Amino acid sequence: MLPYATVEAAESALNRSLTTVESLWFNYTATTSDYILYCYNILFLFIVFSTVPLFYLFLQLLFPHYVSNYKIQPKVHFSVVDYFKCYKDVMRMFILVVGPLQLLSFPSIQMIGVRTSLPLPSLMEIISQLIIYFIIEDYTNYWIHRFFHSKWGYEKIHKVHHEYTAPIGFAAPYAHWAEVLILGIPSFLGPAIVPGHMITFWLWIALRQIEAIETHSGYDFPWTLTKYIPFYGGADYHDYHHYVGGQSQSNFASVFTYCDYIYGTDKGYRYHKKLLQQLRDDSNRNGATNASEQDFKME
Ligand SMILES: [Zn+2]
Ligand SMILES: [Zn+2]
Repeated sequence: MLPYATVEAAESALNRSLTTVESLWFNYTATTSDYILYCYNILFLFIVFSTVPLFYLFLQLLFPHYVSNYKIQPKVHFSVVDYFKCYKDVMRMFILVVGPLQLLSFPSIQMIGVRTSLPLPSLMEIISQLIIYFIIEDYTNYWIHRFFHSKWGYEKIHKVHHEYTAPIGFAAPYAHWAEVLILGIPSFLGPAIVPGHMITFWLWIALRQIEAIETHSGYDFPWTLTKYIPFYGGADYHDYHHYVGGQSQSNFASVFTYCDYIYGTDKGYRYHKKLLQQLRDDSNRNGATNASEQDFKME
């Protein structure tokens, strides 16, 4: 809720006119409590979990021939019923864990100082804070994920997420309830260290989930914009982690590749890629030019 009764009061406090976006924000939030604004996160998460994986499912249903060229594990197939079952499982977790966690964590948001007030953050402020949040989340998530691959962590918690050895978009948040809770910490840490505006917070939570869905999509499309992000892992990178499964000691990072590189946990992946490249080269030398790209993927 904003501490101004009218636009004029807001403008005199800021000592300037409100921008169009700020006027919209004023009209919408002037009488809306901060708690309600924070709870919008639940709605945004629901929309993201429900619609973004659908994009990949529609591609698969409408252009099966085209997408098969970019399927990371081409021999694994899921039916629409499989997709729906996964979505149902994720929604159950959403209602029982994610939703209540959001509702109860409001005091911490107040404590760290996520603001809803005017002025709105500049685009540069939003982008720079989002970059910081991604870096902090990636680093913290890396170490928690490594812990999840200890014998105890894997058996008790993390093996649920690894039920999908060939991940799909809907399975991005598919995990044990304890993992969902624990991985809330890395997501929260960035805004706690560098608190920003509620709009930035909404964007952060939504973008992080969209990124996770793309990473679990099972497709490595050449046109995905995330390929332009330096040190970005992407679908192929994380798919390998699922492909190897519980024994995996490779590709722990959630977003970028540099943690695995620095701490030497990308060796299996790099060896795997080298091996596939050798197979392709040998095949080309032997004239087996009709062998498709997917013949040399994760088989
Ligand atoms: Zn794992
Ligand atoms: Zn995963």
